[in-house]
Amino acid sequence: MSTNGHHALDDSLIGRLVKQSGQSVSHCYQCGKCSAGCPLAADMDYPPSLIVRMLQVDLPGFEEKALGSKTIWLCLACETCMARCPKEVDLPKIMDFLRQESLRRGLEHPDAKKIISFHKAFLDSLQYTGRLFEVGLVADYKARNPMTAFQDVLVAPKMFLKGKLKPFPHMIKGRAAIGKIFEKARKKETGK
Ligand code: SF4
Ligand code: SF4
Repeated sequence: MSTNGHHALDDSLIGRLVKQSGQSVSHCYQCGKCSAGCPLAADMDYPPSLIVRMLQVDLPGFEEKALGSKTIWLCLACETCMARCPKEVDLPKIMDFLRQESLRRGLEHPDAKKIISFHKAFLDSLQYTGRLFEVGLVADYKARNPMTAFQDVLVAPKMFLKGKLKPFPHMIKGRAAIGKIFEKARKKETGK
């Protein structure tokens, strides 16, 4: 049974979207204001309102199209769409859910590889030092993307000299608490 329009909390994509993010695509009446205001719309493969439409119509293959789109990885969570939406649809939350689902099903858009690497390197830095450690983040990102190894290599010495980059991480005191947040998020995601 399709859940569009009546929020049954079943195991369908829409059911889990409601359950995990509290968001329902049935509120959207396709006015397009979100897409008109989105600063990234021109670079997306589908505008944000079309992603919502794909979820609403629930036709075969549309779910995979939304999950395999570049759009969900380009979204910056800037919330411009939310501010404009007359129905208060929280698109950043929907995009966040779709990214997790896309990873879970292995449907990531090929162009999203670098963005995903950056997300992972950023989270690793937070998990292990409790704050952002720029040198570690860049090293982690480049290790995941060897083709970028020598990009910006001339910029780093200048940044070191200006004191913008620290060679060693500054560990915060509450790292154990940060670790628990990650553990909780992991359990929520995997159910284990
Ligand atoms: S602005 Fe809101 S109601 Fe309009 S298309 Fe976008 S999500 Fe739907
Ligand atoms: S939150 Fe995402 S979809 Fe909404 S306007 Fe910003 S970039 Fe576009």
